[in-house]
This record gives sequence, C-alpha cells and structure tokens, in this order.
Amino acid sequence: MLAKRGRSVVLVDANRHPRFAIGESSTPLADLILGDIAEEYDLPELSPLTQFGSWQRTYPHLVCGKKRGFSYFHHRPGREFSNDEQHSHELLVAASSSDEQSDTHWLRSDVDQFFCQLAEQTGVQVVEGCRVQLGQREDLWELSQRELLATCDFLVDATGQGSLLAQHFGMTPAPKPFATAGPLSFCGSRAIFGHFENVARWTEVLREQGIDQTDYTFACDDAALHHILDEGWMWQLRFSNDVVSVGIALDLKGPPATDEESPAEEWNRILSRYPSILRQFRNARLVAPANGLQRTGPLQRCLPISGPNWAQLPHSIGFVDPLHSTGIAHTLSGIQRLVPLLLEPTSPKRTECLHDYSESIRLELNHIARLVALCYRTRKSPRLFHAATMVYFMTVVSHESRYLSGTHDQMFLCANDVDQQNIITEAGLRLQATLDAILQAPDNQAELERTCELEFAGLIAPFNTAGLCDPPAHHMYRHTAPRKPRWSDR
Ligand SMILES: Cc1cc2nc3c(=O)[nH]c(=O)nc-3n(C[C@H](O)[C@H](O)[C@H](O)COP(=O)(O)OP(=O)(O)OC[C@H]3O[C@@H](n4cnc5c(N)ncnc54)[C@H](O)[C@@H]3O)c2cc1C
Repeated sequence: MLAKRGRSVVLVDANRHPRFAIGESSTPLADLILGDIAEEYDLPELSPLTQFGSWQRTYPHLVCGKKRGFSYFHHRPGREFSNDEQHSHELLVAASSSDEQSDTHWLRSDVDQFFCQLAEQTGVQVVEGCRVQLGQREDLWELSQRELLATCDFLVDATGQGSLLAQHFGMTPAPKPFATAGPLSFCGSRAIFGHFENVARWTEVLREQGIDQTDYTFACDDAALHHILDEGWMWQLRFSNDVVSVGIALDLKGPPATDEESPAEEWNRILSRYPSILRQFRNARLVAPANGLQRTGPLQRCLPISGPNWAQLPHSIGFVDPLHSTGIAHTLSGIQRLVPLLLEPTSPKRTECLHDYSESIRLELNHIARLVALCYRTRKSPRLFHAATMVYFMTVVSHESRYLSGTHDQMFLCANDVDQQNIITEAGLRLQATLDAILQAPDNQAELERTCELEFAGLIAPFNTAGLCDPPAHHMYRHTAPRKPRWSDR
C-alpha cells in the first residue's frame, strides 16, 4: 500500500517464506476490508482472495479452506457426543450463502509468501531471515542485524507477539491484561496447536454415530469448527488439501502446563476424555510445524505505545484469544486506518492521530476480551454459551452492515457503540446473577438458563437484524452476514 503510493519501504522478517504461521481463519469483515484495500491502493492481485470461488479459480496453487461459517459442538467428558431435536448441543452460524461467496482459511505459509512476493513486485525491498535490532539516531530508526541494514524515518512494528518496539523501549506487558473486577473479566487462555492430516471429517463421525444432520445449514467441516470442552475449546480449520489446523485453547483457570507432561502427552490426555473427538483423530498425523506440537504460555497481552515516528499493527499491540477468529480482520482493519496516517506529512496533528489509532486498538482488544469472557464463562452450559455467542454475532453483524453502508469511522466490532457496550455489560450482570442463582438452587438450573437465554435475546433485540436467538431456528442459522460485493463487480 505504501509502495503503491510512492513511499520507499523496507520489509524485514526474522523468518523466511514459506514458513509456518498460526492465525488462519478469515471472516466476512476481513474479506470486505481486503477488497477495499485492493481497490483503493490499486492492488487487483488481492481481490480474488476475498472469496473462496475466485480464490480457487485465480490462485489454485495457494492453499486455502472453505469457510461457510462457524460451527460449535458441546462435549461432556467420558461421553460420546449426542444431540436432540432442539440441537441443544450444536450451533451453526452461516456467514455466507454459497460456496462461491464463502470466506476462507488461509494456509499462512502460502498466503504470507504470496503477500511478500507481491510487496516485492510493488517495489518493497524485502529482507528475509533477519531478526532485526533497533537503534535510534535523532529522528531516524536504524535497523541492523550484525551490520546496518536500513535507516528509516518511520517504523511499523508488525512483529506480533515479538513486540519489537515494546522490547526496544524496555517495556514488559502486564500479566492478565484483561482480568478486570467485573463479571466480564477474562483470566486468559493458553494453547496447544499444529497441522494434522487424516483427521476424519466431523460430519463422518456424526454419521457413524447416527446423528441426523439434515437441519445443518452448511457442511459443518467447511467452517471454523469448535468443539467446546470442559478444559476450553478446540478449533479445526480444514484446508482444501485436507490438512487441518487444530488447536486447543485451554482456560487458564484450569491446571497449568508442567515440564513433566510434554505437549503431545497433554494433547493426548485431553483427547482421551472425549470419545467422539478421539474417533476423529484415530488416524491423524501431525505434519507441521516441523518441530512438533506448539504449546504456548498465556496468549493474552496488551501494550499499546505511540510516538511521532512509529506505530504497531494490532497483533503487536496485543491479543485476546482465537475464539471468534478476530485476528486477521483486526489486523486488516488496523492497516486500513494506519496507512492513510503514514501518507500524511509529519506534524503534531499526525502524532495525535497515531496516538488515537493506538488507543482505539487497545479499546477494541478490551471489547473483544469482554465478548470472549462471556463465552468462556458459559462454556459448560450449551444453552448459556449459545446465548453468549449471539452477543458476539450482534457486534459483528452490526459492524459488517455499517461498513457496507459506508460508515468507515466505526471501531472494530462496534467497540465505540455505547448502546452495544451497555448491552454487553448488562449481559455480563445477568449471566452472573444466573450463575449465582444456579449455585443456590441447582435443581432449577434448566429453568434459570432458559430465562437467561430469553433475557439475552431481549437485550440484543435493538441490533438483531439477522434473526439471532430466533427459537424456531433451533441454533441453525442460515445466513447472518450481509451479502459481499463480488470482487469482479467492484
Ligand atoms: C493460537 C492462535 C490462534 C489464532 N487463530 C486465529 C484465527 O483463527 N483467525 C484469525 O483471524 N486470527 C487468529 N489468530 C490471530 C492471528 O495469528 C494474528 O492476528 C495474525 O497472525 C496477525 O498477523 P501479523 O502478520 O500481524 O503477525 P504475525 O503473524 O504474528 O507475524 C509476525 C511476523 O514478525 C516476524 N518477527 C518477529 N520478531 C521479529 C524481529 N525481531 N525481527 C524481524 N521480524 C520479526 C515473524 O517472523 C513473523 O513473520 C490466532 C492467534 C493465535 C496465537
């Protein structure tokens, strides 16, 4: 984008493409923003990536997966997955109405390499395999490894978890940055993940168990598929080469990782508690990354810093949790807001705008954390979890429709919409009251949960344009996202 507007850009990466990276599931909002970036910055090569059909036709060599929406399945330890006519343990939320218009999972080793090559063709100087050190001389940044690589007047920190700028300024992120006092406090999660082959399709396991799928609004594996567990939740993102990105996000309220148990042992122990998931993995084999299953520490961080000649991309400022697949869309939304500022001449006004940008990302991360907290707290009750998920879908559907109607000053997921903030706060309070009441009267659990579900439906009603919480839908939502403009019509 910057090179297209005539700026001289150097892009330095510690790694070399193609390389394994996590964060693969795109969303309608991410596709909309990517399409607009393609158009505004005259980068037509990006447009086909905004939907599954055009991606497959234009770049068949770039591996992606078909993502028709979000599917969720609730499991109980020691028991086969089961359902009922009301689909009490299942939730399917379609985000597109056809395979052609579908969103995608990005095999990041392919897609990031493509982006990097496109940057190079556009005039960017790309330096790979260089873990950069920063130095400052007057108003300039000096980038070096052993010797000086480049001198520049503006630095964008896109190092994600590496948070290069924070390191440079000697800042340490606060532990548990989203743990607040209220009912929407999020203590955090850690993850174990990798890429597997020979993971049976979940639809096959359901078929083997005789579970009827005729009400499903799309094939449930063509999705960000979530298995909801006592320990946390598992994601499954299936690519068209049948490699599946799988990870387990573990609630930090559960037991910590120990040196006595390797990541693979911990993985196998958790899977062994869930017979239907275990069946899905009976022939599975880890294929990436080369150094085996990855186990992280706490994923949550938030450290926004701003100054006259530097900025961080959203993933360098912070991260909440993979639930809700917010990462790619948030990054693109940050880029879309940041680049126009970089194209402006240096001035005190620009410094102020850079500060506002950084502060808005911080507010958005807090907002995401409140939405995620609702879902983590309700995880053990499918009924409450479904209700909590609908609050997230309210924010995303509102953001998408406002974006399509041209309201581009919207913060991510309507984080600056006071009415929606109040709804989330109220949802947290009602949830807390319900959980307290269940503790007092466990026999009334079903009734209390039903009441809470109705209360949530009432709360989101003013923004519910997509039929969320509609009882006759029985958790099977046909279409929630507004129709995307076809990239070829742009
Ligand atoms: C477990 C997990 C699951 C996730 N799942 C999803 C999902 O399903 N959907 C979604 O949208 N998002 C997801 N995310 C979020 C997603 O990973 C990020 O939003 C996304 O990767 C951000 O892209 P990025 O290019 O800004 O940063 P990154 O992908 O983190 O890339 C950082 C780059 O900086 C380079 N680097 C680091 N340090 C240095 C240095 N000192 N010098 C030079 N280069 C350096 C690295 O080599 C790397 O190339 C997930 C995140 C995690 C942790």
